[in-house]
Amino acid sequence: MTTATAWSPMLEQYFGMKHRYPEAILLSRVGDFYEAYGDDAETIARALSIALTSKEAGAGRRIAMAGVPYHALDGYLAKLVAQRRVVALAEQLEAPVPNKLVRRDVVRVVTPGTLLEEHILDRSAHNYLAAITAFDDVIALAHADISTGHVGATAFDGESALDDALAEIGRLDPAELVADVPADVRAGIDDALQHAQTRIAPPVLVAVDTRARAAVDGFSLDASMAMHRALDTLGAYVRRVSVQQGGRDAFREPEFYRQATFLALDPNTRKHLELTRALGANAKATLLATIDRTRTAMGSRLLGRWLLAPLVSRDAIAARADCVEAFTRDAGRRIALHDVLDGCFDLERIAQKVRFRRALPRDLGSLRRTLALLDPIEDALREETLPPGLQGIAERIGAFADLHADLAATLRDELPATLADGNVIRAEASAELAECVLLRSDARSRIAALEERERERTGIKPLKVKYASAFGYAIEIPKAQLANVPADYTRKQTLANGERYVTPELRELDVAIASAESRQLRLEQALYEQLVDRIAERVDDLLVTAGALAELDAFCSLAQIAGERGYVRPAFVDDSVVEFVDGRHPVMEALLGSSFVPNDLRMSASGSRFILLTGPNMGGKSTYLRQTALLVVLAQIGSFVPARAARLGVVDRIFTRIGAGDDLASGQSTFYIEMAEAANILRRATDRSLLLIDEIGRGTGTVDGLAIAQAICEYLLEREGRAPMVLFATHFHELVALADRWPLVANFHITAVESTRGGAPVFSHRVLPGSSSRSFGIEVARMAGLPPTVVARAREIAGALEGRPTLEAAVPLRGKLAKPAIIEQPLLFDP
Ligand code: ADP
Repeated sequence: MTTATAWSPMLEQYFGMKHRYPEAILLSRVGDFYEAYGDDAETIARALSIALTSKEAGAGRRIAMAGVPYHALDGYLAKLVAQRRVVALAEQLEAPVPNKLVRRDVVRVVTPGTLLEEHILDRSAHNYLAAITAFDDVIALAHADISTGHVGATAFDGESALDDALAEIGRLDPAELVADVPADVRAGIDDALQHAQTRIAPPVLVAVDTRARAAVDGFSLDASMAMHRALDTLGAYVRRVSVQQGGRDAFREPEFYRQATFLALDPNTRKHLELTRALGANAKATLLATIDRTRTAMGSRLLGRWLLAPLVSRDAIAARADCVEAFTRDAGRRIALHDVLDGCFDLERIAQKVRFRRALPRDLGSLRRTLALLDPIEDALREETLPPGLQGIAERIGAFADLHADLAATLRDELPATLADGNVIRAEASAELAECVLLRSDARSRIAALEERERERTGIKPLKVKYASAFGYAIEIPKAQLANVPADYTRKQTLANGERYVTPELRELDVAIASAESRQLRLEQALYEQLVDRIAERVDDLLVTAGALAELDAFCSLAQIAGERGYVRPAFVDDSVVEFVDGRHPVMEALLGSSFVPNDLRMSASGSRFILLTGPNMGGKSTYLRQTALLVVLAQIGSFVPARAARLGVVDRIFTRIGAGDDLASGQSTFYIEMAEAANILRRATDRSLLLIDEIGRGTGTVDGLAIAQAICEYLLEREGRAPMVLFATHFHELVALADRWPLVANFHITAVESTRGGAPVFSHRVLPGSSSRSFGIEVARMAGLPPTVVARAREIAGALEGRPTLEAAVPLRGKLAKPAIIEQPLLFDP
């Protein structure tokens, strides 16, 4: 490119704006189109499959150009954002005048993490923007959902700071992450997010806020500083993209939180448990989709937040479960409340659109309807007999009678989609507006009268006054009647079958209507802005109320699913135990119905808490493992659980080591990943942790694999009274011998029965005490019709192998051979 002066004025203007937003595709409004030029034109032509043309660029050159019609912008924006692109939108800031360059400027930058448009957002999921900063030894992470106003910050220090921060990023799954960190930390982030949908953005440089900041409760001064800095980084980014509005005022007060106040789920665990996102093709096969009976988007998002952050405080869990229980007992109240919630709109997203001055007339209509429903909700919850949690919801629902009255008095009953054509504000809302409306309707009736009068005067029956967009109102006369047109008509236009005329009187009326119309529009726009300003003052209250409604919705939903599927309230105890009678996998049960086979589980504090599960493939081992984790997660969000009875102590962390098949894409070897996960587990598991291990050591040779698996088991078992609870599914039959030496170990197995139809083996899916038969593979081979001689020979070989020197012969086993090898009884406690 040569000097900028070589461009035409319009392109000079374009590249001037582009210079300030180099990271964005710049779409500039030109008449009815948003246009991009040069490289950006080529980019969007490819990205949106639209035509690439060219435009005169000054000095006889041409430049690439592509554009989208203004009314289709939203759809194209959605596509670009889905591709994790950033778009800067420039608008015309004045009405176009011929031969003069229209003033234009960037009014908004659309980025994946700062969306407000509900047609791009998922109604029941959060869309987070996060910022990560490093400050001395501390890593701080701030996150915000601009569309709902939620904002939080946390900090990590110590050796595992980066790992913990990455785990938290994984939990939030932000659409965009502003990374203000040194190169080594950045490398770790890039690595961890290489398969994520997150766009990583550089920080917007801001002057460091020098206001003195006190330490946040429960955090060190360094951690507090780091969190504030992360919040500032977040705010600076939002200010830049929202251009006219925003910054740190864009959200409510941040919530400073510690990871330790949640049940920790590392990224793999969360993924494999399919809490809110499915791994397979069936997007509905998640825990959230299975239990979600909420009626509002706010409630659905809250339930998702709960599932990703189960509690570890028994009191907090009990407080929630009390609310759920109250609604299971009083289904009538629940149903009535849920029905009212059905009529509530997404108050959070409406409030944030108000804050950003982006609320459309119908958003305010939805707000009006929602506010009208608050009183009955509050009344239904203000009752002594209800648990404090529900009464607290009533307290958080704000008083909005004045706001509702304002909306009712200002907005018309029926609202158009946009403000562009007016008809949004009631005429009675302002004397001036009423006058305009009167003028318009008066002028219209005068036109009707004029039409009638002219028809009579001229005797032309088909005479009509019509509106032509080119020049306004005109009298239309058909061809056959042209001879009767009076002399005082001025011809304006010839039509195929007639002529159009105007008269001085019609002109006058026309002008009166047009000016009343534009005055009305201006007035309505001003009144609308004032109304939005008034609502904006209540945005924080609205968000608190929204939070209360979301909670109510979530409690109603949990009570409803508990009733539908026969869940029970789990009992929490001090001991580190997990026990279920007839536990079911919530998602599988929803799919399979009554053919799902319930199973018991008992992990006790000092007896057996290390369960070795053997059994054939497809027997149901991993289902049993996952079901255990899901029940714990449900119990710790305060939900009832799919079981006949349940008793557990608060679990601090769930680890999983489950099939690494889908990690192959990352290029690391499966075995390496397995070992890295195992290392993480051994390093961090406490006596309150739950470990779910589905095969370990299979990614290497049999001897290596078995040796590692056994060493890992022994390492965990040797922790004397501090051993975690372990559910270990394995093909290594050698491991069942551990039960002979370690009182903590119990063998269980899943059986198969031969199909009565003589086909493939049929599984009972029953988890039973003892270990499974070693030669199950040969059994299957026999059922599948392998010749009897082959089957017999296989048995012979297997028998010989059983006698071969085992690890036991080579290495003295650890642990005392103290425990008699008995089969444990499966039961349990009194349900
Ligand atoms: P494994 O891990 O032993 O190979 P899975 O847990 O993957 O087995 O289960 C295999 C299949 O068996 C599941 O897809 C499911 O259809 C069925 N299944 C598992 N457990 C049960 C159960 N308790 N009741 C009914 N069907 C089950």
